[in-house]
Amino acid sequence: VQFLSYGPGDPGTPGWASTKGSKRIAYEKLETISRIPSLPIGYGPAGELLSRLAGQEVPGGWQGGLPFAYHTGPGPVEIEMSVEMDYAVRPIWNVITRIPGTVEPDLEVVIGNHRDAWTYGAVDPNSGTAAVLEMAKAFSEAMKEGWKPRRTLVLASWDGEEYGLLGSTEWAEHHADEIRNRVIAYLNMDSAVSGPDLGVGGVASLRNLIFAAAGSVLDPRKGKSLYELWEDRRRDAWANGPIDRSDPAKLLDFDPQLDPLGSGSDYTVFLDHLGVASADLRLSGRYGVYHSTYDDLYWMEHFCDPEMIHHATATRLLGLAAMRAASAELFPFRFAPVARALRQQLDDVQLLLLRKARKAKPADKKQPIRADWARIEKALEELGDAGTALDAALDAALAGGRAGGPPSDAALRAANAAMREVEHRLIDPEGLPGRTWFRHLVSAPGLSTGYAPWPFPGVRQAVEEADQAMFDREAPRIEARLRAAASSLRAIAALDGLGGER
Ligand SMILES: [Zn+2]
Repeated sequence: VQFLSYGPGDPGTPGWASTKGSKRIAYEKLETISRIPSLPIGYGPAGELLSRLAGQEVPGGWQGGLPFAYHTGPGPVEIEMSVEMDYAVRPIWNVITRIPGTVEPDLEVVIGNHRDAWTYGAVDPNSGTAAVLEMAKAFSEAMKEGWKPRRTLVLASWDGEEYGLLGSTEWAEHHADEIRNRVIAYLNMDSAVSGPDLGVGGVASLRNLIFAAAGSVLDPRKGKSLYELWEDRRRDAWANGPIDRSDPAKLLDFDPQLDPLGSGSDYTVFLDHLGVASADLRLSGRYGVYHSTYDDLYWMEHFCDPEMIHHATATRLLGLAAMRAASAELFPFRFAPVARALRQQLDDVQLLLLRKARKAKPADKKQPIRADWARIEKALEELGDAGTALDAALDAALAGGRAGGPPSDAALRAANAAMREVEHRLIDPEGLPGRTWFRHLVSAPGLSTGYAPWPFPGVRQAVEEADQAMFDREAPRIEARLRAAASSLRAIAALDGLGGER
């Protein structure tokens, strides 16, 4: 049990690297470690304990699958436990390798996957490790044939992920300045294969890169591309989902987005702490054995991917995305989707507040907050306009330049370096309320939702906790970050060799 949503990594070194001899917070003062010892147990012994609890019935979401009504206790059953917890500082190992870029060696694309597993970990993470290793082999073959990436590719095998994203977090805290100055995107692959269906999370500026890669890889059984199948599923859900009839112009706008990232894998430090554009790729399915001892080769060979064809597919997907990210002359960012994705996510927060307001009775002591969204909405419009204009400039540059002739390597490098920083604009060094390690003002895991994301975390928390002062504080901070991102998009569109004068 850990408080991942307050800060991952070594709990003794929040925000700085855990290296030999580094300053550490004493165990007694740690804030992100549970004071209640906990141990997962099987349902047999759990049933013996749970069935003997009396007291109130648990809230709906807490009722589990055992055939009796769950109660909160306390008692009447009492048990005696003898607990031995082993807290120690031990070394872990990340394995990092670099393929130097030829034209823009100081810009880096990082591909990461963790190597440690709870038990056998055939899916989590070994399917991802297999894919990353196969991809590395393919790169090595390509390099023997003369291929070299334009930008530097960094391949990372993280350790200690399951214990709180230790390896990636500490590495990134250790190399924070380099990452801020060099890394253009982080692509994560964790549980690469738990089934056949594409699943993609990430920031919306990487949407086109991911969709294009997924559009170039065929599902081995269905003969359609991974993207087509994903889009079919999304379209189905959208067609049958709730319909907002207040805006007739939007009724037929199908605009599928990557899932927003929450936490639970190694992209967390890159996106939420350092503001690196990040994505997470996987093929998923009926994965009933997650984090259990049954996530083993037997399950993989008998139920999930007997011929290892989905492993090969995942490798193609990641390899293609990585090669394009490292080799495209202009990094394949597209920014118009950013404001549209954020608008959808803001709608969800607004809807949540509306539901709370409907539920509230006039006599309730705690009333829902009164939210004025106008300024965030205006900033999103500004971001949308700037993104659309920059995308047009990028397309024009790729089509041969507006002022005649393709952009020079120097102009391309300048544009890539500048686009790299757009995500940084959404970082505020003061961080989120009560959890300053998380510094991205529109992307974070929920405080109490496990891995699930809470887009617009500051105002979401204000809505959840009915904290008017928090809303009034957080909304202007979000607005400022969105406006900063918009202004950096406009500055890029005006660069030499893109939309600007040459
Ligand atoms: Zn994992």
